[in-house]
Amino acid sequence: MWQTIGHSRITELLQRGLTQGSLSHAYILVGPPQIGKMTLAVDIAMTLNCRAEAEKRPCGECINCKKIAAGKHSDVQILALNKTAVDGVKEKTEIGIDLINDMLHSASLPPFEGDYRVYIIDEAANLSMEAANRLLKTLEEPVGKVVFFLLTSNAGLIPVTVVSRCQKLKLSRLKTDVIEKTLIERWQIESGKARLLARLSRGCLGWAVDASKKSDLAVERSLQFEKMLAIVRSGYSERFAAASQIAQQFAKKRETVYETLDTWAGWWRDILLAKTGCHDHIISLDFQPALAEMAGTYNLVQIKDIIGFILEAENQLKQNASSRLVLETLMLNIPKSPGTSNSRT
Ligand SMILES: [Zn+2]
Repeated sequence: MWQTIGHSRITELLQRGLTQGSLSHAYILVGPPQIGKMTLAVDIAMTLNCRAEAEKRPCGECINCKKIAAGKHSDVQILALNKTAVDGVKEKTEIGIDLINDMLHSASLPPFEGDYRVYIIDEAANLSMEAANRLLKTLEEPVGKVVFFLLTSNAGLIPVTVVSRCQKLKLSRLKTDVIEKTLIERWQIESGKARLLARLSRGCLGWAVDASKKSDLAVERSLQFEKMLAIVRSGYSERFAAASQIAQQFAKKRETVYETLDTWAGWWRDILLAKTGCHDHIISLDFQPALAEMAGTYNLVQIKDIIGFILEAENQLKQNASSRLVLETLMLNIPKSPGTSNSRT
């Protein structure tokens, strides 16, 4: 049984490729973090190597399926940036040529215990230029029984020559009710919590599942909300310090910064909804009183502008603009909590 939820257009296309033996040798799966790219790639790796009869693949129970699910199958490799810094050694910021050379050497050998070798490169935008060029040569001269999956939240950060050699599949955000139902039925999450998580997930099931396991999610969200409030209430000096801190975080793990900006934009959207009286559409049900208070502090035009500034900053970061400059501009743009003028509502 496929573990992938939703994305039916893509799963049907891949299932057809599997049935007809016409799978591409390389795919690039594009979609926001935790939307299900890795689950989908692992599903295909299992299906290609499953021992069950064709219509029952992936069975999830044969030796190959079990080993792949546990990350212990010799023919299925997941490559990702290993950020673990060893004493005094600077942590890596790229997937280097050595890792790709090792991977391509094993790809040139026949499968060892399964039928296909499958290589999944997580966050492929982390490939160094040298590594990407090395990979390109293999993508140009595909060998049999090998399938590559490149996963990314932004295909624009991967050399276009590499992207053009892969079949591009774009994963869209899941509907809130699909996520809510899946959380209840597959993960046995209580319905009220499932409803809140589904709304907060912005269509990314993996995020909702991870969040459901955090007992301190409410505390974490409160701290994040307080941090945002502190920024909008502070002066330039504190704001630039915050910009610098977020830029440093961006250099280490850019996805967490996108997530922060998404969360901020989500809150301001909710403030907008509170301001306009559309309470039924508010996502952050756990922050309703605080959102209502903010809605009373800012006028409609300011709220709309702030959402625009946050989205613009996120967009520029994704286009590789200077993170420090983008974040400082954002901090300058967000109007200080006025507590007064409501004249333009
Ligand atoms: Zn199986």
